[in-house]
Amino acid sequence: MSETTDTIFSKIIRREIPADIVYEDDLALAFKDVNPQAPVHILVIPKQPLAQLADAEPEDREILGHLLLVAKRIAQEVGLSNGYRVVINNGDDGGQTVDHLHLHILGGRQMKWPPG
Ligand code: AMP
Repeated sequence: MSETTDTIFSKIIRREIPADIVYEDDLALAFKDVNPQAPVHILVIPKQPLAQLADAEPEDREILGHLLLVAKRIAQEVGLSNGYRVVINNGDDGGQTVDHLHLHILGGRQMKWPPG
């Protein structure tokens, strides 16, 4: 497992900075994105340090699956019954800006393809 350096998301996990938290369990935390790109924009993160998807190893199978199931659960709970998008930006070309793995849940509007 790759270790993240301390990021803004670690500080949110430790409650050192505020966030609008919508879900938490032993393994994951979810909170509203501070700069929403859709009417619903929620980030789901692992509590364990993993900087990016590219660093995932076979032993991360359980947490990766868990994060997707959490995303599905939150999407249901916030009423995205007409669909939604789940995005992982990885690395510079992927547009990743925070080096702590996160899934974006985007919904509440029609998504376009391809993304920019
Ligand atoms: P990415 O560009 O995929 O790395 O996504 C990082 C996301 O984190 C962006 O959508 C930011 O708006 C969001 N973000 C950054 N800081 C915070 C914060 N303190 N609380 C909530 N979302 C944040």
